[in-house]
Amino acid sequence: MSQAPHPTGAVANSPAALTNALPSYLDPNNLGPWGIYLQQVDRVTPYLGNLARWVDTLKRPKRTLIVDVPIHLDDGSVAHFEGYRVQHNTSRGPGKGGVRFHQNVTLSEVMALSAWMSIKNAAVNVPYGGAKGGIRVDPRQLTIGELERVTRRYTSEIGIIIGPTKDIPAPDVNTNEQIMAWMMDTYSMNEGSTATGVVTGKPVDLGGSLGRREATGRGVFTVGVEAAKHTGMDISTARVAVQGFGNVGGVAGKLFAEAGAKVVAVQDHGGTIYREAGLDVPGLLAHVARTGSVAGFEQAEAMADDAFWDVPCDILIPAALEQQITHANAGRIQAKMVIEGANGPTTPQADDILHDRGVLVVPDVIANAGGVTVSYFEWVQDFSSFFWSEDEINARLVKIMQDAFAAVWQVADANKVSLRTATFIVACKRILHARDLRGLYP
Ligand code: NAD
Repeated sequence: MSQAPHPTGAVANSPAALTNALPSYLDPNNLGPWGIYLQQVDRVTPYLGNLARWVDTLKRPKRTLIVDVPIHLDDGSVAHFEGYRVQHNTSRGPGKGGVRFHQNVTLSEVMALSAWMSIKNAAVNVPYGGAKGGIRVDPRQLTIGELERVTRRYTSEIGIIIGPTKDIPAPDVNTNEQIMAWMMDTYSMNEGSTATGVVTGKPVDLGGSLGRREATGRGVFTVGVEAAKHTGMDISTARVAVQGFGNVGGVAGKLFAEAGAKVVAVQDHGGTIYREAGLDVPGLLAHVARTGSVAGFEQAEAMADDAFWDVPCDILIPAALEQQITHANAGRIQAKMVIEGANGPTTPQADDILHDRGVLVVPDVIANAGGVTVSYFEWVQDFSSFFWSEDEINARLVKIMQDAFAAVWQVADANKVSLRTATFIVACKRILHARDLRGLYP
């Protein structure tokens, strides 16, 4: 059949050229977090076999919403903030991912974080796609009333695409249980009925789950134990160094210490402490709860922050911020294993250095997936209005993390690739297999 001439007289591009053109939102001179994610997908594409024909699905967010969030400030003036909700992929289920309130949030960052949620959710095989949201606002500059109004107006604006079966937000940087309660209430008011399942990370009295607060640290510990089994490391005699002693690092440190490991060094925003014989972790947690930092803990030596990277240890757990392990310190790290509690703590350059030095890196997309796994349990409990015991939740969490780690280890071993690449292979295959089974509409 001959094709009708193009109405503008243009010559039609080939499908490949049409699909592969750089997306309009990407600056070729500064790829940013989304560009880094695209490079990660390119790296695993050769391992995807037949499914590689669907790979462009992973390189475009399914849906990107930018919203204006105007609120009355307490002084009566009006301020506008920019908000985002990105649904990267929903092939395996509804979108799922946190909401970040930060003055430096960008669309590129939210897009990348939404894509990493697709990878994380597929890696642990929970039935979700990936999504993420954010508002460009410094919440510390807002009063509590202003914070509530920003949260509610943002929720109302993104209400057209979220929902318990569509996309389920959760806490992230600078958002917490209270903000989830306001989001749940706003969505429910607009819907006319209480919809607890629209967000996770809620207070337990509002349909939140037991075990959620400890879940990410427990997941970090679980994959650490699994990795140690595969590498012949004895956890009960291992020396552990932890950066960040908050929700993730504090819980992971406590669980390693309970298993007999010696937590020899801890760094947080206030300073770095060291004790060769092992720190008293319960005592340190109490000190942090009292003072806000590990600094000044009496039964330890204070140490220069930069010396943290030279500490003799077997396991290093970055559980604070992104881009902490860089080309500048990766060569100094003594650990045999790095377990990424934080999101994106290792730069791609540092990743290569650690790989070449034989240091095993358990990547964030699997190591810190315990949080989203218990968020999934919360959502299931909300749907059935039947709540599980903490023991039951922890047992199910451990099983999911163990199974996920085993699948990733097997792929890494078979393909002689890093655990990060293996996690991407496992996750991308699951997402694209779902894409393949569903086919293309229309
Ligand atoms: P948190 O706020 O409870 O703790 C953060 C810790 O990092 C604190 O101890 C803080 O002092 C420390 N820190 C801050 N700045 C630092 C610096 N410059 N140097 C050293 N330490 C510093 O946060 P969290 O919930 O434990 O999250 C930590 C990381 O884990 C983040 O990257 C987060 O995105 C990631 N993460 C958290 C969860 C979760 O469920 N909480 C899930 C997945 C990933």
